[in-house]
Amino acid sequence: MTNRTAVAIYARISQDREGAGLGIERQLSDCRLHAERRGWTVAEEYVDDDISAYSGKRRPAYERMLEDIGDGHRDAILAWHMDRLHRRPIELEELARTCERAGVTTLETVHGAFDLGTGDGMLVARMLAAVAANESDSKRRRGRRKSREIAESGRPHMGGSMRPFGFQEDRITHRPDEAQAIRTIADRLLAGESLTSICRWLEADGVTTVTGKTWRTPVVRQLMLNPRIYGIRVHQGQPLGPAVWEPIITPEKGEALRLLLTNPERRTNRTARRYLLSGMCRCHLCGAVMYSVPRYETRRYLCRSGHDFGGCGRMAITAAPLEEIISEAVLQRLDSPTLHDAMAGRVQDDGMARELSDQIAADTAQLEELADLYSERAITAPEWKRAREAIEIRRTAARRRLSGLSGTRNIDAYIGNGAALRAQWADLNLNRQRAIVQALVDHVEVMPGTRGNRAVAIDRIRPVWRL
Ligand SMILES: [Zn+2]
Repeated sequence: MTNRTAVAIYARISQDREGAGLGIERQLSDCRLHAERRGWTVAEEYVDDDISAYSGKRRPAYERMLEDIGDGHRDAILAWHMDRLHRRPIELEELARTCERAGVTTLETVHGAFDLGTGDGMLVARMLAAVAANESDSKRRRGRRKSREIAESGRPHMGGSMRPFGFQEDRITHRPDEAQAIRTIADRLLAGESLTSICRWLEADGVTTVTGKTWRTPVVRQLMLNPRIYGIRVHQGQPLGPAVWEPIITPEKGEALRLLLTNPERRTNRTARRYLLSGMCRCHLCGAVMYSVPRYETRRYLCRSGHDFGGCGRMAITAAPLEEIISEAVLQRLDSPTLHDAMAGRVQDDGMARELSDQIAADTAQLEELADLYSERAITAPEWKRAREAIEIRRTAARRRLSGLSGTRNIDAYIGNGAALRAQWADLNLNRQRAIVQALVDHVEVMPGTRGNRAVAIDRIRPVWRL
């Protein structure tokens, strides 16, 4: 028996064996006992948590062990069973090569020893690795077949910890409040409202995601693109057929939403692309936000009545001349002395912006530090999660405030250069134009016309300046 003085113990927890009670502690104590019996000194215990070696995800402790072996710091490897070490035969080959270069030949498990330095030892190790890989593989194949069968029958996927928005825990029964929210979002989007404005409305109404978070535009977009809401079962990203649950919106609306949200002209999800002033016009009669209506030949902004809109329905204005007048007013404003005075007030904002970006940087560093502590097992997974959540909430809030402030940064280069900007204005893309208008204009009040609502006269429009 050779005396070993720098033994590496490797343990890994994964879903499949947890049920059998093979926790980390059991693996470690068996290995420690084994080392003791052999008279070996353990140099380090390497533990990976909750990561299936098969899925190919990183195993930080395992990688560290390989490095230590490669650097000549270890003289033997001890694990509970070969299937704790790897699931993929190629990993065994990698380990064997590293060991060979470092002159390490001893690989033992509680169940048996493998002399990596001999052909026979490698043969047995390879056979075990092949068996482990096959077991894991067929388990995955069985799982895949099963979930395909369930999908084809239209029943819901029960995996994942969260129910889908709009549905109860059974993932079939509607939740009336959330289903109503989905219907309203669909109607508002189809009426030309932007995802950003939808998110603002959801937040104001206290509607949160299933995890209690505030809605963000990509999440709303994903929700409204999911055929689940119109009664279609999706499997691995592909719509399979009718689901067992009732649709929340009609398939026709679902398709219209898909066309709208996947339209390449809608290059950003943040703004309705064709409308310079969407969300910015207000009806003088009732104060409601006017909606851009893309489905008409002539683009217009309308005050819309009805449950979802809440306007008086008595105001409309043709979009193109209104946008032209506002653009011109913005360009003139850029060269006005009033604006220079307003900019003086921004110094304060700049200090605030610096403070916020410092906060974001500090939080990011702290999150990285926490991740390191976790990978070194200085803190547990629940501790890590708790600490992370608090910091992430703070960082998100800082980011939101910073993006609110940076609205004015869109025009830095243009102050006093309105005349020069006028020459390029038509060539700027709509997003850029919008950013410049939004930096200066809080909203535009639209008044009734004396010669009918559709006509645009300059006295019907009153921009309310932000700067
Ligand atoms: Zn109105």
